Amino acid sequence: MNYLKKLSIVLAIAFSFQNCENEERNVEVNEPQGITSPTNLEGESANYTVSQFGQNSYWASWIVDVNTTNRLKSYHNNSANLFALGNVPIYFAAGPGTYNALSYGPPNNYIVWGQELLQAAKNYGNAAIAYVAAHEMGHQVQFRNYGIPSSNNVSALELEADGFSGYALYKTYSTNWNSVASAYSFAQAIAGASGSSHGSAPQRRSAFRLGWWMAQTYGTFTPAQLDQYFFYYYNQYVLGGLLKQEVAKPKGITPELDNFILSKIDELTKINNGEISEEEFSNLESK
Ligand SMILES: [Zn+2]
Repeated sequence: MNYLKKLSIVLAIAFSFQNCENEERNVEVNEPQGITSPTNLEGESANYTVSQFGQNSYWASWIVDVNTTNRLKSYHNNSANLFALGNVPIYFAAGPGTYNALSYGPPNNYIVWGQELLQAAKNYGNAAIAYVAAHEMGHQVQFRNYGIPSSNNVSALELEADGFSGYALYKTYSTNWNSVASAYSFAQAIAGASGSSHGSAPQRRSAFRLGWWMAQTYGTFTPAQLDQYFFYYYNQYVLGGLLKQEVAKPKGITPELDNFILSKIDELTKINNGEISEEEFSNLESK
């Protein structure tokens, strides 16, 4: 066999192998500009990074299955609309080593979802998918709005993203607490593994619950209002009350909003200090 013939056979095998693997998945693959493989992703943002993307991961137009990807996209878009962000690009990484969902800051401002994470979330239920989608969108709110988060709490980024997701789930997914609270355990489980500054589990639960209550007050908050009001209540009342004497109440907080949230502080404090256990948390009231 001459060299050219050998080479053409090798190429054909390589091509058919690639074809086989990518055939259905990668028709018109959607990939971030200039990034040929998920393993080439870089960036300061590392939300929910359990590990690096695997060496054999690749960009895909859908992950898990088309319906699940479409459901994820609709949760993603619902959150983007709620937070007035317009179009937020979303990309999908498939293959081994994709137990990740990442939110990227400027200049990229996109979100990348890994197949293995979406599969795990799907196994948990749709609310888990909606939760992670809203949490990652919460980081886009932070990336795209100067001065958010306004708190310098060590876990401000993550706790606020949880608060925003509690808010978003009530507004766009379900007003039934039981259907979202259990999904929240999924989020806690994956974040814990990363060892990053997501805050303690009770801190995160109370942040999520505060966002849930804020969603029930009135209208729709702007991102700046959400941020200010969230930290006003969270830092001052939920986190031990250390700042109680020093923080001025944001001007936009109406007496109705204030009275409503203050009526929930006792519960929020008990979530935060562990008096309300994770199991009890799942069974709290919706309204
Ligand atoms: Zn995060």
